[in-house]
Amino acid sequence: MLSLAECQALPKVELHVHIEGSIRPETVLRLAKKNDIDLPATTVAGLREWYRFTDFPHFVEVYTLLSQCIQEPEDIEFIVTEFMAGQAEQNILYTEATYTAGTIFQHAAIPIDEQIDALRRGITQGRRDHGVDLGIIMDFVRQDLPEDSVTIAEHAVDAHGKGVVALGLSGIEGVGPAEDHRAAFNYAMAHGLPIVPHAGETQGADSIWEALELTECKRIGHGIRCLEDDALVNELIEQQVVLEVCPSSNVCLNVVPSWEEHPLAKLRDRGLRVTLNSDDPPMFNTTLSEEYHRASKTWGWNEDVLKSLVLNAAKATLQTDDARTALLARLV
Ligand SMILES: [Zn+2]
Repeated sequence: MLSLAECQALPKVELHVHIEGSIRPETVLRLAKKNDIDLPATTVAGLREWYRFTDFPHFVEVYTLLSQCIQEPEDIEFIVTEFMAGQAEQNILYTEATYTAGTIFQHAAIPIDEQIDALRRGITQGRRDHGVDLGIIMDFVRQDLPEDSVTIAEHAVDAHGKGVVALGLSGIEGVGPAEDHRAAFNYAMAHGLPIVPHAGETQGADSIWEALELTECKRIGHGIRCLEDDALVNELIEQQVVLEVCPSSNVCLNVVPSWEEHPLAKLRDRGLRVTLNSDDPPMFNTTLSEEYHRASKTWGWNEDVLKSLVLNAAKATLQTDDARTALLARLV
């Protein structure tokens, strides 16, 4: 078993983590105060209490209020650079992180192109100060109006290769049908922008089949419920689809009862390409290093197994081929 310190030192790559859900608690409180946002907590301990979720819709409610702490482009720039500092502290060489511009626009009316500029400034500074790199997955939520998701897809396509690496889909599965956003997906695909949807987290195999059909995705956020359907598992293996698994998130949102009962080891044993991720780490009282440590502890995984998960992630990044090759060279 690897200790937490050993997992922290292991060079890593992360594919599934949300920028707004990663804001440090101290920064959440500072931004709330600066921007006059009324949160139900005014201390770090109070925030931890607030981050006790009953289920997925409750989590979305908290996440939405948390996102309101971002009110100015400089807030976006700050949280991105701080995020990269946190990844560097954990030796996470490269991250693809999700950012929900539509929600920030609804709360703070910052035009989406200004948000993207702020993201880019934050990334430039983070690269310079902390020596790690970051690509953005610009997502929209299932409940968004179809015309709004098309707007996000257009901005994401414009910024593809200039900070943005993919279009994402999040929100509450089963409430907003992914089908409503076919126009946004088609626009992204027509312009060569990959799509990385959340699916098979709170809903079952049908949601994953739908994501495959609508987005031709090569990666799925969570996807853990694919085990309910053998034909789907075979399809995912055949298409070499990578699953972005986030165990602590699943446990905290009561999707899975405990680490011991989490299907990650089963997914790996079936031959699926699994990766380990932190999703919204401070909200789930975790870090990526913790996820590696907990996995090692739960399933007795040694360094070779943990390294294979890092390599699965590195091979599935949406960077240029040259950048991916350079990243892989740093890991082997
Ligand atoms: Zn997520």
